[in-house]
Amino acid sequence: MADRAREINLAGARLARSAAKQRALVAGDIGPCGEMLKPWGAGEPAAIRETFLTQAQSLAEGGVDCLMLETFFDLNEALLALDAARSTGLPVIASMTFEPKRGGVFTMMGNSAADCARALAAAGATVVGANCSVTISHMSAIAAALKSGADVPLILQPNAGRPDSADGLLLYHETPDHFAAFVPDLVAAGARIIGGCCGSSPEFVRAMRAALD
Ligand SMILES: [Zn+2]
Repeated sequence: MADRAREINLAGARLARSAAKQRALVAGDIGPCGEMLKPWGAGEPAAIRETFLTQAQSLAEGGVDCLMLETFFDLNEALLALDAARSTGLPVIASMTFEPKRGGVFTMMGNSAADCARALAAAGATVVGANCSVTISHMSAIAAALKSGADVPLILQPNAGRPDSADGLLLYHETPDHFAAFVPDLVAAGARIIGGCCGSSPEFVRAMRAALD
C-alpha cells in the first residue's frame, strides 16, 4: 500500500486529532521503513528519506502536534527520518530501541545509547528516548546511558515484559500495577514522557498517570 501512504497517514492523524479534541496532544508516529540501509540492505538513503518525508508531511497536514520516531534500531535511518520530520517545523521526539549488553546499552546495529542521544539531539530532536524491546526494570539503566550522551528531556516506553509465544500469539505478562510501581524510578532517571510499548494498553497509561499524580 505504499502508493496510499499519504491517504493512510492523513486519515490516521485526523482520526486521532478528532478523538483527542483539546484534551491531549497528538503525536504522528513514524517507525523504521522496513528496508535496511546500504550496505546491509538495498535501501538508498535519499529514497528512504523521501518516504519519511511523505509520511511526515501527511501527518502534519492531518493536524498532529508533534512527530514521534519510534523503535528505530539504526542511527543512520533514524537521522534520515529526523531530518524529514524536522522539515515540517513540528517538534520531533526521537525514540530508539536498545538492549542492555555486556559493556553498555546498544541498538541491534551496535549504536550505543549515548551516541544515539548525542546525534539525535544535535540533529534537532526535542526529546530523545527508548521504547520497545525491554521490560520496565531495564529502563532506568537505559535512561542513564541516554543522559550520558545528551542532556535533553527523555521519553521511556518499555514493553509489558518479555513475551511468551503460544499458538502464534505473543503474550505479555506484566500488569498495569507493575508499571505504576516503576514510575518514580523512571521520573528519577530523567523521564519527562512515559508510556508503554508492546503488550501495554490504556489501563497501563491510566495506572502510570495515577502513580504520577
Ligand atoms: Zn514495542
